[in-house]
Amino acid sequence: MACNDEVVMVLETKRNPAIWKRFDLCLMSHSHEMARCKACGKVMKATTNYMLKKHTDRHCPVTKPKKNEMGEGSGTGSSKV
Ligand SMILES: [Zn+2]
Repeated sequence: MACNDEVVMVLETKRNPAIWKRFDLCLMSHSHEMARCKACGKVMKATTNYMLKKHTDRHCPVTKPKKNEMGEGSGTGSSKV
């Protein structure tokens, strides 16, 4: 399981800025491109914006919403008194 890809350089991207402001597009040592999360540093395939957004929203330990903070009582769920 050799996973020794290294970031050679950070590229510019014109892909969806709303998503890519959270990621760097990186050129890796095997001359393929990967996305690197600016928040947690995780590197993942840059195939689809959807995958990146999913990371930000659900998997990133830094940017994903924390359930314990800011009581999520508004909107969904039954409001018991
Ligand atoms: Zn992340």
